[in-house]
This record gives sequence, structure tokens and C-alpha cells, in this order.
Amino acid sequence: MERKGILFVLSGPSGAGKGTVLHEVLQKVQGLAVSVSATTRAPRPGEINGIHYHFRTKDEFQQMVDNNEFLEHVVKFHNRYGTPKAQVEKLLNEGKDVVLEIETKGASKVRRANPDAVYIFITPSNYEELNKRLNVRGTESPEVCALRLKIAKTEYKSIRYYDYIAINDNLDECVNTVSAIILAERNKRRRNAELADNLMTLKS
Ligand code: 5GP
Repeated sequence: MERKGILFVLSGPSGAGKGTVLHEVLQKVQGLAVSVSATTRAPRPGEINGIHYHFRTKDEFQQMVDNNEFLEHVVKFHNRYGTPKAQVEKLLNEGKDVVLEIETKGASKVRRANPDAVYIFITPSNYEELNKRLNVRGTESPEVCALRLKIAKTEYKSIRYYDYIAINDNLDECVNTVSAIILAERNKRRRNAELADNLMTLKS
């Protein structure tokens, strides 16, 4: 029987470097697929529709909500974000491991439906570093940076629900950590029960 894929949920405050870490992990670890979210947020320079996000109008997004197309959806920083359900289920059924890069409220909705998924929280080791990174990034206004920092404190309260914390003070180290988590999860005995049974029941 083909193994169903593993769902990996990657969260962490804005400025933690999730996107960069994920980009590097995808170069390193084979067989991973990334779910492309829908959002009402405007594209940033360089972002491509269908690759970074499915950029949708408010009406289009609401239509997707009404059609029950989302695994989860949230409002964040005055914009809406959602994980399209069909795409994730298709990939998992094909045996691909799927990564969702989503914020903590959405992650808790996914957790209720998918207790078997693996939850990884990415963060720099201290709040000052987060502050510095958000301000240096320069893609957002000072007001938005301040809002994102404030929200980070709320997001930190959710850490208790995550299986792993991956510290991102050094990009390479964090990429190694997340890659190691993925490889270890893939090799868990309970995820390879059929192989384990076959080996255990070999006739002597
Ligand atoms: P950004 O606007 O910086 O791309 O993303 C803002 C936040 O929304 C990030 O924390 C990101 O992980 C989160 N996010 C992106 N897509 C989704 C989604 O589909 N669902 C949820 N719950 N959060 C998302």
C-alpha cells in the first residue's frame, strides 16, 4: 500500500525567516510539496500569482469560503489567508509530504482535524532580533512592523502546541534542523508500519 504523505505545519512570527528557511529546505530534502495559499493581500515586488500565493479579490476569497474550499482560513494583518483543501488532500493521497507555512491560529484549526501532522515553530532565539529583522526588511510601513511585533507576542503563546522549535539565528543551522525533523519523522516506525510488519514476520 502506498504511504499517505505527512503534513508538516511550519509557523512562526513574521520576521522569523520561515519563507527563506522553507525555500532552502526544499533544495535539500527531496519529495516535499508546498501548499500555495490564497490571500487577499496585494503581491509584494517579485511575488508571482500561483507560485507565492493565489492572489484573490475579497469577493473571490469569500466565494471560496462559501464553497468550503479551505482547510483553514484566517484574517491576519487586515488581510485574509487560506489553505486550499483540495490541493493538500490530493498531494497527501499521492504520497507526497506537504508543507503548510501558516500562522498559529490557522495551525490550531489544522491541528483539530490532523492530529497526526507535525508542527514546527520557527523563531529567532530572542525578541530583539525579531524586532531588528522586521525593521530591516523594509517591505512594510513602521505601523505594520509595530503591529506584526505585537502579534508575535500572541503567537509565542501558541508554542506549547508545537512538536518542535527550530531556532533561526543562523540560516544554515535552522535549515539543517528543519530538514532533520522531516527526515526523522519520515523514518518513524509507526509511519512505516507495513515495512516493519513485513520484516518482523519473516519466516526463520
Ligand atoms: P505574508 O503576508 O507575510 O506573506 O504572511 C503573513 C502571515 O500569514 C505569515 O505568518 C504566513 O505564515 C501566514 N499565512 C500565509 N498563508 C496562510 C494561510 O493559508 N493560512 C494561514 N492561517 N496563515 C497563512
